[in-house]
Amino acid sequence: MLAAMGDSALEKTAAFILANDDFTLIAHVSPDGDTLGCTCALRLALIKLNKKVQAVCENAAPKIYRFLPGIDGLIVPENAIATSAAIAIDCADEGRMGAAKAIWDNAGHTANIDHHGTNTMYAQLNCVATSAAAAAEVIFKLITLLQVDIDKDIATCLYCGLVTDTGNFAYSNTTEHTHYAAGKLMSLGADNALINRAVYRSAPISKRRMLGVGLVKAEYVFGGKIAYCLLTRADYAKFNARDEDTEGIIDNLRDVESVEIAILIRETEDGAYKVSMRSKEYADVCAIAMLYGGGGHKQAAGCTVRGEISTISGELIELAKKAI
Ligand code: 5GP
Ligand code: MN
Repeated sequence: MLAAMGDSALEKTAAFILANDDFTLIAHVSPDGDTLGCTCALRLALIKLNKKVQAVCENAAPKIYRFLPGIDGLIVPENAIATSAAIAIDCADEGRMGAAKAIWDNAGHTANIDHHGTNTMYAQLNCVATSAAAAAEVIFKLITLLQVDIDKDIATCLYCGLVTDTGNFAYSNTTEHTHYAAGKLMSLGADNALINRAVYRSAPISKRRMLGVGLVKAEYVFGGKIAYCLLTRADYAKFNARDEDTEGIIDNLRDVESVEIAILIRETEDGAYKVSMRSKEYADVCAIAMLYGGGGHKQAAGCTVRGEISTISGELIELAKKAI
């Protein structure tokens, strides 16, 4: 029946799901609302199709996403079993799977569902819609194509993915298709106020304090067009903060009147540095991230770097100047 629908990547992905019985769904490291919402939604949909399915992520879900229906089903790679099929979700390259890559490597059948322009097409079946604002937009279409009933729980998960990847439908990646999906999901039970409260209005005190640190430590260079901030482990220790407590700082730096590019560098527990970059209107920060082995989107990208951080940050600022 599916063959008659044509051969688009989405249809092939639906056929892939119908053809296999046991799946591992893989969310990316340092998971965000899109990868988690999609992974939970697709897991619930596959259960409805009577498939065996496990959802895997190297890191635990940040607290703000624990409201997602089915989030308790998310397991760490060490607790996962081998499956014949694996689907990576919102992972632009294989490195984004982290330790879950071992399960991927063992699966005989692989699919990659994503929306990043930098996707390296690493799977047997690549379903990459670069015009989609969120992977949730793609998963929404996929579940619809599979004719699985989108209940309130699935709708909630997908709506969360849309909200978080579009900055509440405010970024330029938002299209009429994003709004169509959002409207449909609301009609199916997604509670937008509840989702917004969970994600944006339930910050622990440590998170607010880290925002304060980020705002105070930020430096503005190149006529204020570039905002730059380095958060060290000492900053985290001072407020007993975790990685997830720094979410949102980068957006605040970008939202300064003069800023076109914001760069946030966070020292990780193992001495590496996680770089997040955002642009406001036109600069391509993805091109910069790619020079360091990272990726993302033109206006939101990241990478991980090692080495002398003052040298690297100097390089990043020079690259940002050129991009402006
Ligand atoms: P964030 O700065 O919020 O971590 O990420 C912004 C965007 O860049 C997201 O779309 C994310 O998936 C992507 N991104 C962040 N870090 C990396 C990375 O190390 N590699 C790749 N390929 N993409 C990344
Ligand atoms: Mn995404």
